Amino acid sequence: MEKKLKIITKNCPQNHKCPAVKVCPVGALSQNEFEAPKIDYSKCIKCGKCSNFCPKKALVLDFE
Ligand code: SF4
Repeated sequence: MEKKLKIITKNCPQNHKCPAVKVCPVGALSQNEFEAPKIDYSKCIKCGKCSNFCPKKALVLDFE
């Protein structure tokens, strides 16, 4: 089984600029205004940096 990054939207308060967007080394995260970030799966290398960084656990790298 492969791991996949997921966004748990209910954990994200969606009221701030997502700090995890800048943490991603490959620019796989993007954010529209204060919405929960979006993942570009064609870029994500599943490094887990963003999931370790998000204090709300809204980004989770887990088995599908
Ligand atoms: S798991 Fe790594 S590569 Fe994928 S979106 Fe998060 S920081 Fe970027």
